[in-house]
Amino acid sequence: MPFADEKRRSASLRWYYNHRDEVQKKNKIKRQDSAHKEKEREQRKRYLENPDNKARAYLDRLKYKAKNRESINKKRTLYRQRVRKEVLDYYGGKCACCGETEIKFLCLDHINGGGSKDHKKTEHGQGWYFYLRRYKPEYVQVLCHNCNMAKGFYGGCPHVAKSKTSI
Ligand SMILES: [Zn+2]
Ligand SMILES: [Zn+2]
Repeated sequence: MPFADEKRRSASLRWYYNHRDEVQKKNKIKRQDSAHKEKEREQRKRYLENPDNKARAYLDRLKYKAKNRESINKKRTLYRQRVRKEVLDYYGGKCACCGETEIKFLCLDHINGGGSKDHKKTEHGQGWYFYLRRYKPEYVQVLCHNCNMAKGFYGGCPHVAKSKTSI
């Protein structure tokens, strides 16, 4: 929404905070309407075509982030944990070598030890989980950190020699 000046803008914000509950209820109903969604997207796009508005939106975003850093981080952490669990569950939810199921011990392993280009690019960090959730490639398995480390350091897990399975 464009505002002529800061005074009107803060008055509008004040009104919003006083009527927040009913506005949010109405917006929730509106948000489920796809035509309304499309209209809003268009409006927002037009609003941001003005460089002043764009700069203001950017500053607002920064302010919002600074003010809500803690809750944003918390949400992000929970979301990441959910994605991680979802991906680990998809790939069996337990260590393919020793059967460990404690999620804190589990990680994902490239079955043939790498070599795929897309894996190399995304291998490190959270990004890989998002990638796997999206594309679900078959060259991945769940291992616990012990079995994974042993595989990395010694070329195989001691469990394998005992049980004659392979990872
Ligand atoms: Zn294991
Ligand atoms: Zn093992």
